Amino acid sequence: MNASPTKLETLAIDGGMPVRETLLPYGRQSVSEEDIQAVVEVLRSDWLTTGPKVGEFEERFAAWVGAKYGISFSSGTAALHAAAFAAGLGPGDEGITTPMTFCATANCVLYQGAQPVFADVSADTLNLDPGEVAKQLSPRTKAILAVDYAGHPADLDALLALTRQRGIPLIEDACHALGANYRGTRVGGIADMTVFSFHPVKHLTTGEGGMVTTNDAKLAETLRRFRNHGISSEARQRQASGQWYYEMVLLGFNYRLTDVACALGLSQLTRLTENVARRREIAARYAAAFREVPQLIPPSVRADASPAWHLYPIRIDSAKLTVDRGQIFRALRAENIGVNVHYIPVHLHPYYRNLGHRAGECPVAEAAYERLISLPMFHGMTDADVGDVVRAVNKVISSYAK
Ligand SMILES: *Cc1c(COP(=O)(O)O)cnc(C)c1O
Repeated sequence: MNASPTKLETLAIDGGMPVRETLLPYGRQSVSEEDIQAVVEVLRSDWLTTGPKVGEFEERFAAWVGAKYGISFSSGTAALHAAAFAAGLGPGDEGITTPMTFCATANCVLYQGAQPVFADVSADTLNLDPGEVAKQLSPRTKAILAVDYAGHPADLDALLALTRQRGIPLIEDACHALGANYRGTRVGGIADMTVFSFHPVKHLTTGEGGMVTTNDAKLAETLRRFRNHGISSEARQRQASGQWYYEMVLLGFNYRLTDVACALGLSQLTRLTENVARRREIAARYAAAFREVPQLIPPSVRADASPAWHLYPIRIDSAKLTVDRGQIFRALRAENIGVNVHYIPVHLHPYYRNLGHRAGECPVAEAAYERLISLPMFHGMTDADVGDVVRAVNKVISSYAK
C-alpha cells in the first residue's frame, strides 16, 4: 500500500483495503517470560495474598515515584475510594474534580456520601483550570481531585496553593501519568495523595490493581487500614508474633492486592523506565507526523511538564472537514485502527444528570469532547504499528478534507 500521497486510496469504510489486516487496540499490556516466572514462583510459595511481595512492591513503587509510602489496592478505583475516605470526605462535603476523566474519579466522592463538583478544564491540556476550581470553592469543599489527563500532569502548584490555603488535601488521580514529570519531579510525591491504576491498559499492570502514594505517615496508616476492613494489624504480622488479638478501628473494605499480583507488579516495575521512554518516543513520532496536518490538533505539552502518555488524544478541526468526529472515528476503525474517545464528560452521564448535573456546566470540556479521538498508544507498539496509525489517519483525513 504505497500509493503516492496525491492519489486518494479508497477508504476501507467505502469498501477499500484496510491499512491493517488486524485491529490495533488503543492500549494493551506487555507481559514477559520473567513476569510469568515471577507469578509462578509466588503460586508455589506460602502466601497468595498479603505476603512478602505486597510490602516489597509498595516500597519499590513508592521509591520509583519518589514518595515515602505506597499503599496497594485491588484496583485504582479502590485506591481512589480510600483516598476520598482518608481525605475525610463525608455527607455534606464537596470534592471538586474534572469532567475530563474516567467516572471513577468523581464516583469516589459519591462513595463517601459527598457531592462531586465539576470545574472546567484548560483548553490546551484539558486538565483542571485552577481559575475555574477557585470559582467552585465553597465552605463545604473538603478536597480537590485533579486528573493528569492523558498523562500530562495537572497544574499541581496552582492547585496546591488553593488546597494549602484551606487546609484540605489535593488528591491527584495519576492513573494516566505513571512516570510523568512536573517541574522536574516525578508525580507521586507532589500532591497529598497520588493514585495509580494497574489495569492492563496502563503503564504497569497487575491485572487489576492500584496504589496510593503519600509522604504523610498518618494518611498512610488510614489508607492501610481502610483496605483491610479497618483492622489495625495484618494477619501475617499476627501470625509472625503469635498473636490472635486485633482491633477494627474504622469501617474499611477488603481492597487488598494479592501477593500474586504484586509479584507481577514487581517484575513489571523493572521495565517501567523503558516503557515510559517508549511511549514518549511514539508520542514524538505522532507529533512529527501530524504537525503539518491542518485538520488535526495534537495534544499540547506545557514547558514545565513531561507527560507519560497513557493516551494520545488528538482533536479534529471540524471546520476543515466535510464530516464529523463520528465519521472519522468509524472510518479509522474500518482501517483496523482501534481508536477510542476519552472521555464523555462525567457530568453528562445519565447517573450524574439524575443528580442534577447539566450540559453547559463545563463548556470547554464539552466542546473538546466533540472533537476528541484517542489514537493507539501503548509501550508494546512496534514502529510498523505506529506507521500504520499515521498512514490510516492521513488516508482518512485527506479524503474528508475540505
Ligand atoms: C484507569 C483509571 C481509573 C480506574 O482504575 P481501575 O484500576 O480500572 O479501577 C481511575 N481514573 C482514571 C483517570 C483512570 O484512567
